Amino acid sequence: MVLLPDFRVRQRDYLLEISRAMTAQLDLSEVLRLILRSSVAMLAGEVGLIALKEDHSASMRVRALIGAGPEHVGVFEPLLSAGSADETGDLYGPDFDEKLQRIARSLGQPLRQAVSLPMYLGEETVGVIYVFRTFTGAATRDDMRVLQSFADQAAIAVNNARLYHQVDQERKRLQSILEHSADGVMILDARRVILSFNRAMSRISGWTPEKAISQPYSAVIAWAGRPQGTDLGEAMQSGWPASHKTASSPNDALYVEGDLIRPDGTLIGVGITYAPLFDAEDRLLNVIASVRDISHFREAEKMKSTFISVVSHELKTPVALIKGYAGTLRREDANWDPTVVQRSLAVIEEEADRLTELIDNLLAASKLQAESMRIKYEDMSLLKTVQASVERFRTQTDKHKFVVEFPPDFPIVPGDSARLRQVIDNLISNAVKYSPNGGQILITGAFTPDEVRVSIQDEGVGIPQSEWSRIFERFYRIEDALSRKTQGTGLGLYLSRAVIEAHGGQIGVHSAPGKGSTFYFTLPRQRAYSL
Ligand code: ADP
Repeated sequence: MVLLPDFRVRQRDYLLEISRAMTAQLDLSEVLRLILRSSVAMLAGEVGLIALKEDHSASMRVRALIGAGPEHVGVFEPLLSAGSADETGDLYGPDFDEKLQRIARSLGQPLRQAVSLPMYLGEETVGVIYVFRTFTGAATRDDMRVLQSFADQAAIAVNNARLYHQVDQERKRLQSILEHSADGVMILDARRVILSFNRAMSRISGWTPEKAISQPYSAVIAWAGRPQGTDLGEAMQSGWPASHKTASSPNDALYVEGDLIRPDGTLIGVGITYAPLFDAEDRLLNVIASVRDISHFREAEKMKSTFISVVSHELKTPVALIKGYAGTLRREDANWDPTVVQRSLAVIEEEADRLTELIDNLLAASKLQAESMRIKYEDMSLLKTVQASVERFRTQTDKHKFVVEFPPDFPIVPGDSARLRQVIDNLISNAVKYSPNGGQILITGAFTPDEVRVSIQDEGVGIPQSEWSRIFERFYRIEDALSRKTQGTGLGLYLSRAVIEAHGGQIGVHSAPGKGSTFYFTLPRQRAYSL
């Protein structure tokens, strides 16, 4: 008989040990080594190995080896390569003896017999256990059955390890999705303590994961004012989430929107969706909060409402004036003096011009969003354009003194004269509008071999530095008493910048509140070709 005499006593111990190892840990190589050790001991073998099928191939790889050093792994190769077992699944194959002799010679051990135990997982063969002995002998059917149960255990261990690997892979995948998600994600336990905090969540909230984890969620979700919708704490007090089984919809998510106070005191607009996660017993396990930065969205909303109020205000004023004057002139009972008629018609004409300009600006601005501005180049004199514009404004104000200073050799430049006239008109009109107490408006020209520069300096209210770039944005107006009183749409500088940049130039401002502003633009002396 092949088995050791005390085998029957020991087989239980071995099985117990193996199953304990399998439940205690998931490290596959440990379990395999233990199974192999037991199998070799029970068969009184000298050498043993467990080989497992490689993932996407038919051949096997040695995963545990006893009785030979790791340098000998290659010796067993002929037993393990694809096709080494014949079609019937016989692991010995036709020329097995020859292979065995070669192995014995390579190892320098008098191996005379090999017992092989296939490892099955259902229908699939996942690996094989080989035990090599220095003597020959047959095992009883009973013994083989016990040995086969070792092989089965090994197959289960392999399966566990595979499943564990899959779960681990899945976990890593989710972790990476979570980490790189553009939305902030925060996982809470049932008591609303933060368990996990991704990168976007850090960016949005201003909290580092280290500081946030283990804090109650309300430390991070600190609302400035009352948010729209019911926040988590309040919702949970009134019974949210309904249990999984009784909930009308399994997606019983909660949405709330508002401004969060960050640790540095700044505010950020966010929308948060809270989703519950239940365990198998229908107990609340986690709440998953996904937090979206909606400040851009809110800015766009604000822009839209500014647009509507500005435009309606700007449209209403001239229309009301036109209607008023036209109505007065039409009165049949009145006989108007020709000068009154003239003055009234002049107002109507001016206001109609203003409407046209407003509509032109709106069209230009909306067109700009869709495509870049096209420039019709011609050789032009900026000085003449400035002089013409100054003449027009001179007639409209007597509080302001206009001074134009251009060097006599100021060059002709290539440019779109109609559009550049708009820019100059707009800058001079702003200089007048935003210096309500009057003062000097100085327009200077300068040039270098590469470019020309025109500056418009006023002595008006000035602009704080924080607004210098924003005033060039679409519909942006500084919110102060003067802007509310003066007409404007916040489109002038936006369009001016577009015109100047389409020429390849630059536009900007220097100013100090109360000390006036200097707007300037440059234009290249050579035509800019866009690529
Ligand atoms: P608006 O139609 O409001 O004048 P603009 O785009 O021309 O629009 O200007 C944007 C904002 O920049 C103005 O509302 C005003 O607050 C500010 N601004 C422009 N020019 C001046 C200036 N010369 N002095 C002070 N503030 C100015």
